[in-house]
Amino acid sequence: MGINGAVEWSTDLGGGTHVALVQAGTFRSDAGALFGPVPRILWDRLVTDEIDHDHRLLQALNCLLVETPAGRVLIETGIGERVNDKVREMRDYEGMPIVPALTAAGFSPGTVDVVAMSHLHFDHAGGLLRADGSKAFPRARIIAQRAEWEVAFDENSRIVASYDQLELRLVREWGEASWVDGEAELIPGVSVIRTGGHSSGHQAIVVRGATRAIVGGHTLRGGTLPRSASGTVAFFGDLGMRPWSANPRWVTAFDDFPLASVEVKGELFARAAKDAWTIVLSHEPRTPVGRLVADRDRFRFEPV
Ligand SMILES: [Zn+2]
Repeated sequence: MGINGAVEWSTDLGGGTHVALVQAGTFRSDAGALFGPVPRILWDRLVTDEIDHDHRLLQALNCLLVETPAGRVLIETGIGERVNDKVREMRDYEGMPIVPALTAAGFSPGTVDVVAMSHLHFDHAGGLLRADGSKAFPRARIIAQRAEWEVAFDENSRIVASYDQLELRLVREWGEASWVDGEAELIPGVSVIRTGGHSSGHQAIVVRGATRAIVGGHTLRGGTLPRSASGTVAFFGDLGMRPWSANPRWVTAFDDFPLASVEVKGELFARAAKDAWTIVLSHEPRTPVGRLVADRDRFRFEPV
């Protein structure tokens, strides 16, 4: 893992739907903030080999390119190209931004039909524009929750610090033209579910391949048939950043509504474990793909 500009993992969900993981660089976040309310004595040993001299952890900017017969969907855009040297240094932002990373992986950004973002924090929505201010995905609809666009421009100083409001103003019209409210199917097989928790309009993205089952020698397609175990890929955004996020109570200090995070993680992770969904973590650099397994009153992330 960790080779910028290459497809790091991909899977075929059936029915012409493929999902590819493309990393749009890395940055670093304060370890204590990533573990939020969890006492250091419980998490210290999990990160001994990756914590740096500034007590930070390496965070990947994991993006998914979903190809379906109905169109191409990009999930997340990373930090992008429009950060100045001071911010780049402060965040220790390295690697290829989303457009060159996609191009190097063999995908043309001009062919993306939909861009879905879990939320609008700088490390998820930063790649919507090129360095020169042009649209990075000129023909795409931009999908985030209406509630997320609304909160992103709030005057609360914590909100001002979490969102790059100057940048978001430049894409506001583009985003508001296709914002969604709650659960929505973007194109056949690709849906978003509003979760809240991390931010008030945070959403998860779920990709399902066309169901196929052999019954009496005929191939049937349809929603009523059991789906194959490998047929669903879920991206929980920053509710599923790293392997330890599998414990619903291990929320980050960046979660604006921690109780909501705990509740919605419990519900979504139970579905994911029961139906053996493939999970892609938003910021995990080494083992970003795996499954959730029920474990006492929590879940465990098992890399695949
Ligand atoms: Zn993030």
